[in-house]
Amino acid sequence: MSAPIGSRLLWNAPPERGAALLKLCAVFLSFLIALMNLRQTAIGKLQQCYIRLGMELGSALEMYCLDQGHYPRDLAELQSKHYLGAVPGCPADGRAYIYHLDSPGQHFRLTCGSHAHWLAWTLEGGPIRRHNPYYLSESGLHYDP
Ligand SMILES: [Zn+2]
Repeated sequence: MSAPIGSRLLWNAPPERGAALLKLCAVFLSFLIALMNLRQTAIGKLQQCYIRLGMELGSALEMYCLDQGHYPRDLAELQSKHYLGAVPGCPADGRAYIYHLDSPGQHFRLTCGSHAHWLAWTLEGGPIRRHNPYYLSESGLHYDP
């Protein structure tokens, strides 16, 4: 009766093959650890984006509207009228948020313009989301499709 193929490969292999196998395991483990770190970083950046979109930019736009009676024509007005020190981009890659305002200035949509969030959504293991987080003047922050 012969031993299973796995144990024959491991225990009957020449020492240099065992060392190569150990090296392969070490490379695989370091790849897994790097992937876990990448996942944590990507999810952290997505969470920072939610906060920036909802708390920082969304709040500044709502305060502007309360004071002025309408939303600003563009995000730069938040800075020029001192509602923000600077208009921030997405924490994931610095891309600008995309701002769409209706013609009377009473409704807006603010969307993250980053291409970096797919990694967080993919590595999160949930259903693949098609939309970046966005903020609507009518209903606030949205982060699911
Ligand atoms: Zn973002």
